Parts: sequence; structure tokens; C-alpha cells
Amino acid sequence: MFGLELLRGLAVTARNLIGSYFSGDRMVTVQYPEAARPTPENFRNFPFLVYDERPEELRCVACKICEKECPPQCIYIEQRRDEKGRPIKQPEVFDIDLAVCMSCAICVEVCPFDAIKMDHQFDHPTDNRFSGLLADKWKLARSNQYYHSIRPAEAAEVDARLAAEAAKKAKPAK
Ligand code: SF4
Ligand code: SF4
Repeated sequence: MFGLELLRGLAVTARNLIGSYFSGDRMVTVQYPEAARPTPENFRNFPFLVYDERPEELRCVACKICEKECPPQCIYIEQRRDEKGRPIKQPEVFDIDLAVCMSCAICVEVCPFDAIKMDHQFDHPTDNRFSGLLADKWKLARSNQYYHSIRPAEAAEVDARLAAEAAKKAKPAK
């Protein structure tokens, strides 16, 4: 009937308007930045680097696969070396230009070591759009505990896989 859909739409608006005074579920907006809407587990923005115990011991082994595969080429890695110049399986430099990153998560997909994951943090306020958005390894480092707090199901799956791989490696060869 003519106008029925319009009335239905107005009823939804009225229900949300009045309901918002009584229930937080009806609130469409929040008092950001003091409050933020919850993000679903699969929400992704920028990558972070995972460490298990200490930020100096990232899972990243500086294999540079993610650097090669990143479509806009916004990852820059330099491998750490010892005093004799021999390579160490850790990045000396690991930078991501967040101004260029397009949140595609290809770096996560190609990493064979579960060393890089996608973060939920979407705000990176800065007054310098050049150096302020260039994230180094210290800014990118997050604990496995943090990973569990934002992506519990995925992080548990990764932990189980890594534990199985470690057990397989520890098994003596027959
Ligand atoms: S994050 Fe993963 S793919 Fe990228 S350099 Fe480190 S180990 Fe390699
Ligand atoms: S999310 Fe995509 S664009 Fe951003 S660093 Fe990873 S591969 Fe590059």
C-alpha cells in the first residue's frame, strides 16, 4: 500500500531514537575516543609483528617474503648481522609505511612463520603524515597475549599449529 514502507521506516527510526535513551544496544554512535564500538574478530587494519616472550625476540626471521609480496611495497626489512657479518634470523630494521599500506593482509597470508598479523587498531593520530606514519619494529611489536586478546580463535589455532610443528621437530629421527 502506498506510504506503508515509509511508515515502517519511520517506525524503525522512532524505535531506535526512543530506545537509545533506555538501552545501549540502540545507540548508533558512541563518545569516541573515550569509547569505541567493539570490533569483530576478523576486522583488520594495519599489520603488527608478534613476539612470544620479549619484543626483542620477534617471531620474524627476516626472510623478506612479505616485503617482496606486499602489493604497494610499503614494507622495508634489513636483516640483523653479527660482528663477523653473518646473518642472524632477526630483522635489524622492519618498517611499514602505514600511509601506503592498504590493509590487504597479503603479508599475513605469505608469512611462513606466523610472525605478522593484522591489528584492530584503526586510529594512528599524528601531526606528521610522513615520519609519523612510518612504523618501525618497536612500534609494530605486539605480544602473543595481545594477539589472543583481539583474535582469540585464530591465535589459538596458530599456537596449536606451532606447538605441533615444534613437537615434530623435537622428535628423534628413526
Ligand atoms: S614477517 Fe614473516 S614473511 Fe615477513 S620477513 Fe618476517 S618471517 Fe618473513
Ligand atoms: S597489509 Fe598489504 S599493503 Fe599492508 S603491509 Fe601487508 S601486504 Fe603490504
